[in-house]
Amino acid sequence: MTFTVSDADGEVLHRATFFSVGGGFIVREGEEDAALKELDESKKELPLPFRTAAELLGRCQSKGLSIGEIMFVNERASRTEEEIREGLLHIYSVMEGCVEVSLKREGLLPGGLKVRRRAPDWHKRLMKETLGQDPDYRDPKYWQEWVNLIALAVNEENASGGRVVTAPTNGAAGIIPAVLYYALHFAPGMDKATQQDRDDVVVKFLLTAAAIGVLYKEQASISGAEVGCQGEVGSASSMAAAGLAEVMGGTPQQVENAAEIAMEHNLGLTCDPIGGLVQIPCIERNAIAAAKAINAAKMALWGDGSHRVSLDEVIVTMRETGRDMSSKYKETAMGGLAVNVVEC
Ligand code: SF4
Repeated sequence: MTFTVSDADGEVLHRATFFSVGGGFIVREGEEDAALKELDESKKELPLPFRTAAELLGRCQSKGLSIGEIMFVNERASRTEEEIREGLLHIYSVMEGCVEVSLKREGLLPGGLKVRRRAPDWHKRLMKETLGQDPDYRDPKYWQEWVNLIALAVNEENASGGRVVTAPTNGAAGIIPAVLYYALHFAPGMDKATQQDRDDVVVKFLLTAAAIGVLYKEQASISGAEVGCQGEVGSASSMAAAGLAEVMGGTPQQVENAAEIAMEHNLGLTCDPIGGLVQIPCIERNAIAAAKAINAAKMALWGDGSHRVSLDEVIVTMRETGRDMSSKYKETAMGGLAVNVVEC
């Protein structure tokens, strides 16, 4: 994208070009090498660096820390404890704000596919189910409906150019907010949680999810253009599963197992958005992947952390599957649903 500043006579005063290089990263033209160097240097300064899940688990074991705590120690190298906490709580407040805005917007999503926003109606329906009670009360019977609602709301907002948190990408932005919503409203013990407890859950969840995101960035990719949707929705589901397992008291091995289960069952997922718009299948796919993440966390927590396939093996498999995947299925809208469904 090139930005141009001109004066009233049309004379160009300044021009700058930026590239979106995938996975939420932006590089300014001519500064590609500097950006890479900065990234390398920031990694060198980390007190507890890790590239693989095996290294991460090794750090947890040697320091007696959880996965979220390892991430926290690394973050402390560049900012204060208050800044980390405030930053993460701010990120969550943007996620909440996104849902709030989305639930008030009705009608069709832009782009010509005539996709109707579903979240506002679903919200009204769910609120009716709990009418007569505190409007903030979430009936545990409907946890899956609430999780679906949050994922849909975020992704409908993304599809209409609204503000979302890239987590880890825009197309997969609904999964982490939806699973975090589950953690805050439906996880055991949360009915008695204080505001401080809830903030602690947000901080711990996001730090853990981010640690798992690092593994995907380091060993594979979170870009649909590189590895298909397994890298976007799959990585988000894996990150969310780990976050949930951590806040539900999982050991580092159980958290790693949760991340592994969630990605294992997203392997091979192609990227084939109809009309090149991040709407079908993307919006519903986030809700399905959020449910998968919750299931993965629960399965891992019922185990003892030992499992046959490691998270590293699954990440490498994702990378290689992405490499073998035809480019038709990597964000080109030239294969799959994108060509088998008539657009309108
Ligand atoms: S199908 Fe493609 S555009 Fe849609 S969420 Fe997945 S990776 Fe993103």
